[in-house]
Amino acid sequence: MPAGEALTGSVLRIERSSIHDGPGLRTVVFLKGCPLGCAWCSTPESQAPVPERGYVPELCTACGTCVDICPARALTPSRCGSAIIRDVVRCELCFCCVAACPRDAVRRFGTFMTVEEVVREISKDEVFFFHSGGGVTLSGGEPLAQPDFVAHLLRECRERGIHTAMETSFHVPFDSVERVLPLLDLLYVDIKHMDGESHRRWVGSDNSLILDNIGKADRWEGPVEIVIRIPLVPGVNDSDWNLQAVADSCRRMGKLKEVELLPYHRLGSHSYAALGRDYALKSLLPPSRERIIERTRYLARLDPGAPVKVGGGFS
Ligand code: SF4
Ligand code: SF4
Repeated sequence: MPAGEALTGSVLRIERSSIHDGPGLRTVVFLKGCPLGCAWCSTPESQAPVPERGYVPELCTACGTCVDICPARALTPSRCGSAIIRDVVRCELCFCCVAACPRDAVRRFGTFMTVEEVVREISKDEVFFFHSGGGVTLSGGEPLAQPDFVAHLLRECRERGIHTAMETSFHVPFDSVERVLPLLDLLYVDIKHMDGESHRRWVGSDNSLILDNIGKADRWEGPVEIVIRIPLVPGVNDSDWNLQAVADSCRRMGKLKEVELLPYHRLGSHSYAALGRDYALKSLLPPSRERIIERTRYLARLDPGAPVKVGGGFS
């Protein structure tokens, strides 16, 4: 980065007052870009590394406002006149159409922000952090897909005395992990599947780098705490075998604070349509409440070395 130039990151959104991603009230910074492609991903708009434009045809009245305003002349009415077609080669991602659409049928997913801009947003919540014991959680996407930006951001939070947490897939070089470990109080790491081939099938890559990074982070001499998260996806990774293998792996850890099951849900499936993508798990139903409780008790009986909880707002 040339001297004097501000470091920017690709940010999907910033959410305030989360109670599910660390202690107290959290401000969660969702970053864009992910090296994996989980079939059940609930934020597909976080996967690409740069801002994207989404379109929801069901909300569009074909009023033509966006067609007229587009400086790149990238938009045309469809043949039947009921929708708008975008020429993705012509589109310059200026997002003028997002601001102009009166129906919220065009969406912007992500924006570039400097570290200072993100810190300014975070600082607005410092009083809530102070009263609730909360702080900042970096999520994604994969935060460590932008290691420079994330390291700078965490350092700024640290200097302000803000508690820091990060949710990561750990499918990144350990060099990137090592840079942020001293800047983190809490680390959430997913174990999506213990079988390498199944992991590749459902996630797009095997699990060796992830498991290796968990071992290295656990042996790192600093004080960070680790929570292992398991997305509980019916028929994919909720078998006895997989939970036993996760428990065996967790039992070897020294920094393990908790094991959290995150039940599969379909809340993000509409985002696939807005991005013009297919949702691979269309026919998969979320686990029942009974199944979630049964799987949680089963994992707890295996004694993974830390308390087992259900995350994601389950009650
Ligand atoms: S993002 Fe800009 S260039 Fe692309 S379609 Fe919308 S108005 Fe046109
Ligand atoms: S401005 Fe919105 S509602 Fe009007 S044609 Fe464009 S997308 Fe559809």
